[in-house]
Amino acid sequence: MRPALRRLFLLAASTDTKAARTEEGFTAPCLHCRSTLAVRADGEALGNATLEHVVPVSWFGKRPATRLVAGLDGPDDARNLALACRRCNHDKGTGPDARGPADARAFEIVARLVATRLARFEPPPPATVEGPAAYEEGAMTNREPGRSPRRKT
Ligand SMILES: [Zn+2]
Repeated sequence: MRPALRRLFLLAASTDTKAARTEEGFTAPCLHCRSTLAVRADGEALGNATLEHVVPVSWFGKRPATRLVAGLDGPDDARNLALACRRCNHDKGTGPDARGPADARAFEIVARLVATRLARFEPPPPATVEGPAAYEEGAMTNREPGRSPRRKT
């Protein structure tokens, strides 16, 4: 898994009040179904854990989504990241995310998820988010021109 993505997993887990530190890293409940998901201390997702963009990346910049993204520093803002199990993430992606923010029902579902995520948000502990030296090296590699750390989840 790419270092930039591992960093986002760590950011999601380390800013989630429902997450727990374990010997291996973190466990946290899926944002949707609350099944337990795990992320290793280096940010590698384990099992069914996937990275959820609560407000989908594709909604950013679309006028009907303005109210949802207000206050977010882009799609990868910690407040917009959560762990979700593979199935829930897929269902959201093909359902409300795909229908777009102009769809009233899709907007309502995402707005409710934003509220759920914000209720679970706590600011990141700097030491965890910055990570070990190994991560920093990987992060540098990812800053080559033409390589975007963005993902379409
Ligand atoms: Zn789930």
